[in-house]
Amino acid sequence: MSDSMPLPQGQWPVLQPGWVWLCGAGPGDPGLLTLHALNALRQADVVIYDALVQEAILDWAPQAEHIYAGKRGGKPSAKQRDISLRLVDLASEGKRVLRLKGGDPFVFGRGGEEAQTLVQHGVPIRIIPGISAGIGGLAYAGIPVTHRDVNQSVTFVTGHDQSGNATGSLDWQAISKGSQVIVIYMGMKHIAHITAQLLAAGRPATEPVAIVTTATTEHQQVLETTLGTCVADIEASGAEPPAIICVGRAVAMRQVLDWQGQIAGEAPRNLDPLGRGRPAESA
Ligand code: SAH
Repeated sequence: MSDSMPLPQGQWPVLQPGWVWLCGAGPGDPGLLTLHALNALRQADVVIYDALVQEAILDWAPQAEHIYAGKRGGKPSAKQRDISLRLVDLASEGKRVLRLKGGDPFVFGRGGEEAQTLVQHGVPIRIIPGISAGIGGLAYAGIPVTHRDVNQSVTFVTGHDQSGNATGSLDWQAISKGSQVIVIYMGMKHIAHITAQLLAAGRPATEPVAIVTTATTEHQQVLETTLGTCVADIEASGAEPPAIICVGRAVAMRQVLDWQGQIAGEAPRNLDPLGRGRPAESA
């Protein structure tokens, strides 16, 4: 067990042999792990991790075997059923298993399916939530996913379904009408289809859009664009997945809240991007 990073005093759960803990690793920056995640990393015999989990996080479990179960990076893709059954096997062997997934394990990450398979096979589980890219990734870009002057609701959608096709099951008309801010996971491949649907549903071509790639990592990039121009702008920029796409006026708040730019010495572009004309703290 690594003792390089002590946990605060307290009763931390013990990862028992034969158990699987499904744990969110957050969107990238290792500092966004939870203390429960750190506690798990320190006890695991095996860490089975996804493509979006930063390697630096695995360094916090030096005692454990590290098994890659991702679908990127040129390595062969692991089938979901194989991953779930692998977890069952490892637990049956009496291993302390940590299943580490990017962001939050229950947000578009098939964590629910893996957990269900484990329970169906009688394997005891614990779920450790994580910071989802659609919230934490946007926060690192200076975009508040809700803001009193912008939205009273937010919709998280996935840009493609299980087969990799554009999500035919989504009612874009309803989403457009019902949600001022739309946060799209896995949306890059079908961005032309998605923007066309939103425009057809009446969202204005001038509506702000942000594309945040490799959010919270040292490679994070933010492309500010609009619904009307985002397809061409993404192509011109060469932006690549993983990306979170945010549609809505919340994106304008980046003009005042790009805190990373401000740390780097940039002045805020606009102190009042929503044009309130009054101090933000007044009611
Ligand atoms: N469970 C994860 C989502 C898994 S689906 C979570 O809660 O964040 C994978 C998608 O998540 C990617 O295609 C991308 O849309 C988004 N994503 C995950 N990490 C990201 C990151 N660091 N930057 C941008 N998008 C990210």
